[in-house]
Amino acid sequence: MAEQRGKIAAIDNVIDPGELAKAAPSELARNHIGEIEIELAQPVGADVYVQNPRTGRLVLDVAGRIAGGGLILSLGADTDRGRHKEAQDLVADGDSLIALAARLNGSLAPLHPRERLERFCREVAGKIVFTTSFGLEDQAILHMLRECSVDLDVVTIDTGRLFPETYALWAETERKYGLRIRAVYPQQGSVEAFVEQYGIDGFYDTHDARLRCCHMRKIEPLSRALAGASGWIVGLRADQSDHRQETKVVSIDERGLLKFSPLFDWSRQDVQSYAKNNQVPLNPLHDRGFVSIGCAPCTRAIAPGEPERAGRWWWEEDAKRECGLHSRRDAGDMVERAPLAPADTAIKGGNSSGA
Ligand code: SF4
Repeated sequence: MAEQRGKIAAIDNVIDPGELAKAAPSELARNHIGEIEIELAQPVGADVYVQNPRTGRLVLDVAGRIAGGGLILSLGADTDRGRHKEAQDLVADGDSLIALAARLNGSLAPLHPRERLERFCREVAGKIVFTTSFGLEDQAILHMLRECSVDLDVVTIDTGRLFPETYALWAETERKYGLRIRAVYPQQGSVEAFVEQYGIDGFYDTHDARLRCCHMRKIEPLSRALAGASGWIVGLRADQSDHRQETKVVSIDERGLLKFSPLFDWSRQDVQSYAKNNQVPLNPLHDRGFVSIGCAPCTRAIAPGEPERAGRWWWEEDAKRECGLHSRRDAGDMVERAPLAPADTAIKGGNSSGA
């Protein structure tokens, strides 16, 4: 890992993933994707992302805060034509991904979620991953997937801190649907280091510690779960929280894959009715006031009238109550620090946030 001061010399090819369209090229607003050229004060070692992803990424730190992350598309003194061609292909891939996401948004939105699932899995080439935490929405989606006999990678992130009821539902779900759900775990060394530094429940003490715990137990394992995927199926609904109001049926995730929310326009009541009518196995905690269910120490039941996600990290301010699974910016400073770049003067990087 290396750090170096630098300045933004140019901004180009800006895309608004929310609108799935090109945006004004003069600035990178929050959540936008684009190309930036950075002039560094001193050279640092790095590679072009397509040649070495481990040393081909960067993080922008502005006034002590993480302002964005990106991939290194080319290096300033890079005269290798092959490398430039690969970098151009990467940008072209981004353009075609936008076109595909826009087309799927138009064609999937009018359909029933089950038909959306069938169509998405048929039209998106490559590996598709469905991540489940065994909540109401995830269980409904899994039932639909089994009904339409779509074969894909079903994955859960076992943080090690789940409720006993969630583990029991996991086993019951595998029995009912006759499948094995792939479990992805946090890295042992990361867990040991966190517990040594903060204590077993250190996430209660500061927001920073909580984000570090979520990054180590959820976000990093999710990155491994999604490695090599072109599509990611999730149980988001637009009315789950203010933070999720902009949810679309298909969007482009910061990892550069299509993120598909087949229930984006369903209400909680719609999903409950579907689950009841189809005998979908559910977490018994839902009947005890637990609406959004995550790790046991960080989830409580909510009172009637409280927002759906009020029971998650209830000791924090509302605006902070996301773990970063659905936007790495939610994880703030926990974005993994990657090496800043180039071999000699300037780099071009695909940035995934606003600076
Ligand atoms: Fe850690 Fe709580 Fe986040 Fe689970 S929800 S990863 S226990 S901070």
